[in-house]
Amino acid sequence: SLFQEELSWEEYQNVQVPGRALYTNARQLLDLVYTKGVDTCGLFLAALKQVLPEAKGVGFSLTGCRSSLEGKEEYQSTSSQTLLTQRPSLVRELQGCTDGALQALLISGLFTTADCDDVRLPIHTPSQQARRLLDHVRSKGESAAKTLLQYIQQKQESGSTPTQEKPTPPKEFVKYQKKLSSSVSAQSCFLSTYGGTSHMSLDDIYTEGQLELGHDCADAHGSLGLEDIVGTAGTVNEEADTVLVSGEAGSGKSTLLQRLHLLWARGTALQDFLLLFPFSCRRLNSEQRELSVQELLFQHCCWPDREQEEIFQFILDHPHLILFTFDGLDELKQSFSDEHRLCCPTQRAPVHVLLFNLIQGSLMKGVRKVVTSRPEAVGPLLKKHLRKEVFLKGFSPSGIDCFVKKHHSDPAVAAKVLGSLQTNTALLGLCHSPVLCWIVSQCHKELLGCGEGSPQTITDVYLMILQHFLQRQSSQGSTAGSGWLHEHLQTVLHLGQLAFELIGTTCYIFSGADLETCGVTEKDISMGFLIQSKDMSSTRSKRYEFLHVTLQCFFAALYIVLSNNTDRSTIPKLFELKDLKETGLSSACFGSCLPSTYQQEGEATAAETPNLQITATFVSGLLSQRHQSLWLHCCPSAVMEKRVRQVVRCLSKGMQKHFKSIPQPVEGEKKSMHAMPGFVWLIKCIYEMQESRIAKDAMSKLEVDHLKLTYCNIGPVECTALAYVLQHLKNPVGLQLDNNSVGDVGVEQLLPCMHICNSLYLRNNNITDEGIRKLIAKGIQCDNFRKIALFNNQLTDACTQHFSHLLKTKQNFLALRLGNNNITAEGAKQLAEGLKFNHSLQYLGLWGNKIGDAGAEALAQVLESSNTLVWLSLAGNGVGSRGARALANIIKNSASLEEIWLIENCITRAGVECLIQALEHNTHVKSICLRNNDLTPEEVEEMTQRESRLIF
Ligand code: ADP
Repeated sequence: SLFQEELSWEEYQNVQVPGRALYTNARQLLDLVYTKGVDTCGLFLAALKQVLPEAKGVGFSLTGCRSSLEGKEEYQSTSSQTLLTQRPSLVRELQGCTDGALQALLISGLFTTADCDDVRLPIHTPSQQARRLLDHVRSKGESAAKTLLQYIQQKQESGSTPTQEKPTPPKEFVKYQKKLSSSVSAQSCFLSTYGGTSHMSLDDIYTEGQLELGHDCADAHGSLGLEDIVGTAGTVNEEADTVLVSGEAGSGKSTLLQRLHLLWARGTALQDFLLLFPFSCRRLNSEQRELSVQELLFQHCCWPDREQEEIFQFILDHPHLILFTFDGLDELKQSFSDEHRLCCPTQRAPVHVLLFNLIQGSLMKGVRKVVTSRPEAVGPLLKKHLRKEVFLKGFSPSGIDCFVKKHHSDPAVAAKVLGSLQTNTALLGLCHSPVLCWIVSQCHKELLGCGEGSPQTITDVYLMILQHFLQRQSSQGSTAGSGWLHEHLQTVLHLGQLAFELIGTTCYIFSGADLETCGVTEKDISMGFLIQSKDMSSTRSKRYEFLHVTLQCFFAALYIVLSNNTDRSTIPKLFELKDLKETGLSSACFGSCLPSTYQQEGEATAAETPNLQITATFVSGLLSQRHQSLWLHCCPSAVMEKRVRQVVRCLSKGMQKHFKSIPQPVEGEKKSMHAMPGFVWLIKCIYEMQESRIAKDAMSKLEVDHLKLTYCNIGPVECTALAYVLQHLKNPVGLQLDNNSVGDVGVEQLLPCMHICNSLYLRNNNITDEGIRKLIAKGIQCDNFRKIALFNNQLTDACTQHFSHLLKTKQNFLALRLGNNNITAEGAKQLAEGLKFNHSLQYLGLWGNKIGDAGAEALAQVLESSNTLVWLSLAGNGVGSRGARALANIIKNSASLEEIWLIENCITRAGVECLIQALEHNTHVKSICLRNNDLTPEEVEEMTQRESRLIF
């Protein structure tokens, strides 16, 4: 409540940094309130009393602090306040002119030379100097603040704000810039997945992925373009320089950075940055030396032929013209920490220490950094140093279409592939992940030739690429039937061992010696699963990596399933997400890969866990009965059966653990389960097995009324798995999937479990009218289905005919919530058409649409005679007094209505008069909320007096 009156949006954001420890947020809030002076403190305490339970609130009063605050008038005065509220823009203004400002403060006698020296310390970057200057000025009080602001104003008036001019770089710098950009361009113009086989230029295949801001972000709406990643949209912390792009394995993070690099090098994007330094965390892992930032830049990205010092100095002096990118933070051996502080750019330190200090901004403050990572590796510690977070969600449906068309030069083939995806929506769902879309396109022959057995699961898709690569190389062409695996068993085992030994050790790049240890031969390499690792700096011997990390997981899984050399405990450990290092035979050989100080016992680290989860998912899939024939002659069937039993037991045990965590409900409340991390993963493993017996067994023990899976990163693939498993629930549940990325394809995937959903919550899920059409067509046939919430999707009037049909047909439907969509008066009229014949609806929510007076009138006309409607929200809908007059009729006639929400409309006095008159005849209605309409404070006062049920 403070935020509405006292804090600016920016201040609010600075306090509410998502992911930061709550107590830090609380402290920040207290500091902020304190500096705003005594009135704000008073308001704050009042607000605190409102939100705290009574017993806790009584201890607080302003008396203790008033005496100490009184007399400190300067905190309320405007200049000091401006320093606080305008801090980010002041930092920008001051960069490059701190000297002038210090001079002015010195002349005025407010600063001593010691103060000036302290600000000017050469180890600080210009923006750090600006911040220090601001801190000093604040500590000196109001006059200093005033002097500084005057100085800045003069500077602006004379039109010479230093930040607006682009400096002229020295000659050698320009040469270096050219060298760097041609090297970046050469590194980024081809896609590595197409490396060994056919060269595919990034330009020919690049397809825009879906970029989103966090759901709780103020400007979360609308799609983001590539350049918005470094733009201002979605900024949560102005002081931070690091932008995080997070996305699952294969969602296209590396490719996105590659695209940014290429566009920069070509001069078509990000031209505010004179230099762009690209880093791969995977490659930085192998840097054993201690380096300074200067060495890191020059040795790992591009070596300046001359004048290194001059070039580096220019970088230091103009940090805002420099961009660093770090791909795959999750692949770094060390987890992010901010313990070891470093601020001197010439001091040497281990690479991860440099990296963490760069990210936090203690090193090279002002340089913009873009970091990519899988979400699991991003902890609260890192989050507090982020300028913003952008989520990469893979391809949209039209993206899939576009990618497939780009991949196949023959339009007839592209059309066939797309056609087969349309008939297999589970596979279509998988194709939202670019890496899977790539595999499916790559294997179009297998796909189109497989008829009925079209792939359903991720394992199916990876088996398809396995077969594709193995048979492409075989001289006799493809082996009929399932003998192909047996034919290439040795290759699979060699690569499998390599993948397996290293999967748990955060090692993704292999030396010749590593390959030798696992018996990987030239022939194995030539199959195309391994590619040569690109390294900008190294001239060392050849190093290899898997085409993609998911392929490494797949080979590790093949090894676990097929090898005679793994320990009996491997599968249980894998499913408990424990370290696998000790379960292989030759682990000791890879010691060099992982410095012993970083080896941890027991639990896998946050960065390793996702790889283990993916591997376990593949193990489940490979051990599915459907693939039994593949293993014939590859592995004794008794061994296989034992492994199947192990997996089934692990899945069942894993599920049990989740169910045990469900708290007993408070009396009168529903029993509710909030999915803990790992729940969706287990569901996906069960789906991979494709045995309904296992799904049924898992669900037989789950007894809840409400299943909450909000913010669980659920996309179409997860929906397929959820529906596959949840359809076996014994009793109907409320399924809450708010704040995910379900989309229309996901909605379609959920249909098989609709019959056990009594309520479906899909707020914030990118659903359009088309998704609704399919959902309702099925929902109408489901007797249990009674409530739906679709707040904040992309619905328009085109979906209302379906709801209208639902309302007409289903006389037990209870709640329809369609807030924050794009429904106009036309849509409201359609809904009214359905409501005319409905005798069950209790809750109707249309908050934040555009139905206007005409819409309100249409609804009022039919709701007038409703005996069931209890709650109605038409808040934020452009409803004026004409609408209010119509709504008064419902109040007059309804015997059931209790609450109406009309806040944020444009109702005037005349409209409210009608509502008051109607209320005179009605005792059921408890409240009508009317805040923010077209009324003067005096009118509000008067009307509150007249009718206490009106709430302003
Ligand atoms: P991540 O870094 O998130 O694991 P990658 O960027 O390595 O994912 O993507 C895996 C593969 O998917 C790429 O090698 C490429 O074949 C394909 N791919 C990813 N993003 C795109 C894109 N935007 N356009 C075309 N292909 C893509």
